Amino acid sequence: MSQPNYDYYDFWKEALSQIKIELSSQEFATWFSRIDYNSAKEDTIILSVPSKFIKDQISQRYSTLIKNTLHDIAGTILTLDFIVIKKTMKEQHEVEDTPIKQSRSIAKKRKPNETNSYSFDSFVVGDNSSFAFNACMAIAKNPGTSYNPCLIYGGVGLGKTHLIQAVRSYIKGNLSELKVVYVTAEAFTNEFIQAIGQSKTTPFKNKYRKVDILLIDDIHFLQGKESTQEELFHTFNDLYDSNKQMIFTCDRPVSELKKLTARLRSRFERGLNVDLQPPNYETRLAILRKKCINHNYVISDDVLDFISKNINTNVRDLEASLTKLIAYSKLLNKDITIKIAQEQLKDSYSLNRDHSIAIETIQKAVADYFNLSYIELRSKKRTRAIAVPRQIAMYISRNMTDFSTTEIGYDFGGRDHTTVMHACQKIESLIQADSSMDNTIQKLMRNIKEYKRET
Ligand code: ADP
Ligand code: MG
Repeated sequence: MSQPNYDYYDFWKEALSQIKIELSSQEFATWFSRIDYNSAKEDTIILSVPSKFIKDQISQRYSTLIKNTLHDIAGTILTLDFIVIKKTMKEQHEVEDTPIKQSRSIAKKRKPNETNSYSFDSFVVGDNSSFAFNACMAIAKNPGTSYNPCLIYGGVGLGKTHLIQAVRSYIKGNLSELKVVYVTAEAFTNEFIQAIGQSKTTPFKNKYRKVDILLIDDIHFLQGKESTQEELFHTFNDLYDSNKQMIFTCDRPVSELKKLTARLRSRFERGLNVDLQPPNYETRLAILRKKCINHNYVISDDVLDFISKNINTNVRDLEASLTKLIAYSKLLNKDITIKIAQEQLKDSYSLNRDHSIAIETIQKAVADYFNLSYIELRSKKRTRAIAVPRQIAMYISRNMTDFSTTEIGYDFGGRDHTTVMHACQKIESLIQADSSMDNTIQKLMRNIKEYKRET
């Protein structure tokens, strides 16, 4: 691992991607496309900007945001220094004139690179995602023929955007005569509202009704937005009648969307609905291995095992953990050990823990899942039908809460803490041996979070 010392460039890149999420795309393009990473020394990152005016504006508006973001990523306070490097007349013209319009075109130019990473090749397929992956691949190869519309649903960070963007880039690369439009439901809504405000709904309608493939991300955003729903309903019908392909993504099954008109719901439910589940241990490990290759970085197997075991929420968290460790390792020029991983990721995996989840909530959710009564789960009965669910509930209590094994034992009918420790070890080895156990546990943990939200 021969990485340059003090390589802050990764921190900067990661900070940019986080800031991009926080700001509107316009604001981000206006200011951040003008900043270039220049160099770093000691604990200072030096950024270059094309003029003093821009330097002043950016330091005034964004210094704190940039510093805080860098602090979160690097785990240490970094200082910023801006230097002015005048661009050639041509470059300057590009960035300085008519800020919004120009920066939009810059954002546009950069887009293909950004979205290139969202390809089928870079997607690691596991049991959790093979159905969705194959459906998207089949659609990309033969849009509009089968699986129309297709709706992919699943929790945050599981690869929904990645998959539909992969469809988009596949079509752009292989079927470039087809017109493909990707839009988030939020952008679609904003554009529609703007079109109404300016009495320009015809261009809007033309834009979305004259496409071959329409990809709309995060349709849960449309809840409660009645006129946008109405507009999408008509767009849908037009495209559907002319066999144009549509793919939507959503953070939950359509049946669970509230404040969605019945007729639009029934449109979404037409065609194919597939879910993306969180990846199991093996898939998490495979994803990490692939990302290490992409980063051109070697991390030992025991560290990858540690991350895969502890970061079990979604791929986004998995990626963020890896980026953090790699940046740390480059910065300090140290190989990553389990100890370093433990320290650096402490906050991320304690996010999985929740002080406010009661053991009782966990017991109820587990009992429900296995069709047992909550009293039975806490009882002294030792039949296998009860013993395993009880051990699962103990394991989950240990993993999702901060209660000690003694406290957990107490809540399970006054059992000894060694019983809880034994249960945790046993479930752990079952998870290792059988990925369906991992899936069950993940599912239960999600149910428990839901229970908590509802109560
Ligand atoms: P969602 O849209 O479901 O919230 P994203 O598609 O944005 O999730 O995925 C979050 C991050 O994880 C992205 O950087 C994406 O590339 C990555 N990712 C998700 N699933 C996979 C996968 N199966 N293989 C490789 N990378 C993945
Ligand atoms: Mg997404």
